[in-house]
Amino acid sequence: MCQRGVDVYNTLCDDCLRKLPRTEHHILRENNVEMLFNEINNHPRKHWDRPRFVRGGAWLHYNDDVVKVIHAAKFRERPELAEFLGRQAALEWQETGFFDDIDLIVPVPIHPRRLNERGYNQSEYICRGLTSVLNLPIDTTTLRRIKNTPKQSQLTDAERKTNVERAFQIPEPICWHKKHILLVDDVITTGATIRNCIKEITPIRSCRISVFSLVVAR
Ligand SMILES: [Zn+2]
Repeated sequence: MCQRGVDVYNTLCDDCLRKLPRTEHHILRENNVEMLFNEINNHPRKHWDRPRFVRGGAWLHYNDDVVKVIHAAKFRERPELAEFLGRQAALEWQETGFFDDIDLIVPVPIHPRRLNERGYNQSEYICRGLTSVLNLPIDTTTLRRIKNTPKQSQLTDAERKTNVERAFQIPEPICWHKKHILLVDDVITTGATIRNCIKEITPIRSCRISVFSLVVAR
């Protein structure tokens, strides 16, 4: 961010790291990420099922510095930045119990064709950072992206919504039976992408969902 040369292992200097705008979602009673997905708990469920949506939060607010870092992580072959930020987030949020009783960490998948072009899924690197602290398994195979959609960032809100409809699939839902899944994304804007993942997950018996994003854009 400050363009000062830093140790490659650090990726951001301490000053820049401190400057990133924290949301403190992990200690608020309510936050705007949870409010995007709370409605899932109103869906009908069997009486023995616990509420489907457990908790959600984003580590950072959106500003010019954050955009610069996320953009580099995503499009300029700097996935280690995503890993670094995931690790920092886990270090800061772990103590408040945000990651308690999660069974699996699941990056929002990108389409195989885009994975081929870019060479990596930035959300998977966020997961690697998280798990370097939390020691939880990462599941990159159960949830699949079956539609290669245009980038959400280039679309209007209405277009974002239809863009990701039926974009995901879970061929073997049994894998997540009775599991508590942490869905991980880099940036949450309207929540349309995560909501469409959740649509595939809610039919799975006793599967609970939490959401973590590095950044919330509004
Ligand atoms: Zn710096």
